[in-house]
Amino acid sequence: MDSKLAIIGGSGAYDLLKRNNLGRELSLRTLTTPFGKSAPLHTFELDKLRFLFLSRHGEDRYALSAPFVNYRANVWALKECGVERIISWSGPGVMNPEIQVGQFIVPHDLIDETRNRDYTFFENSGIGFIRQSSPFCREIRDCSMESLKTLNKNFRDQGVYVCTQGPRLETVSEIKKYRSFGGDLVGMTLIPETFLARELEMCYAAICYATNYAEGVAERPYESGKLFEGMANTSEKKLVDDSVLSFPEIIIKTMELLAQRKERGSHCRCHEAMWRYKKEETISEDWRSWIKPK
Ligand SMILES: [Zn+2]
Repeated sequence: MDSKLAIIGGSGAYDLLKRNNLGRELSLRTLTTPFGKSAPLHTFELDKLRFLFLSRHGEDRYALSAPFVNYRANVWALKECGVERIISWSGPGVMNPEIQVGQFIVPHDLIDETRNRDYTFFENSGIGFIRQSSPFCREIRDCSMESLKTLNKNFRDQGVYVCTQGPRLETVSEIKKYRSFGGDLVGMTLIPETFLARELEMCYAAICYATNYAEGVAERPYESGKLFEGMANTSEKKLVDDSVLSFPEIIIKTMELLAQRKERGSHCRCHEAMWRYKKEETISEDWRSWIKPK
């Protein structure tokens, strides 16, 4: 049993909650943090694995778009609950035409195109220079890919995720610009969540499923009143629905693999992110003392 693991669910997570596809719910709580209230934290048990589940965008509908998610409260609350590893899921758009809608991607890098979000826990302090040679946890990435492979899912083992501010979608020229940066996927949620988790020495990685082709990548007629005004056609929507529905089995397999790895000892460096500051005695072992909100 591993309750030190959390899932942060993206678009479609509320559907999974509604359909009760995540196993037996043991408890539900909301934490008050120095940054305000967290999203509700569900504790689920599925196939003898226990995990926390947080839906970024709301409990029963798409209630909160990416720029308005309280990322600091959510990540702080998960740390307070004793979480060590976070698997995030998100449904970005596709800029790289080699990626198919509905396909899974385990991204390996990020480009930040957001504006004015709360990017750090370390306001008004001299700490926080953290290397980002690999912003996502190597172990969670490895186990996610092994899980997808074992379950025979169509996936790519890397991708560069460009995070935009939103909530509006991107223009054709913006997509061309991000593609020229080397971006494969375009979404709105992984920043600052990824970097905040690293600041609190938690492992974090994302499993993405491609939801639609970004503007200008594939021709899709404008359809009034439809999701994204017709950026995804009917067959693509079906592929995306199937991908969302298969998340529980992918996540449970990933968690099983992570639990096995943990028994053999952890090999990633996420839990050492603040070691330099601890060694210099700039900060103590107590992570709460690192954070001094205004
Ligand atoms: Zn890690």
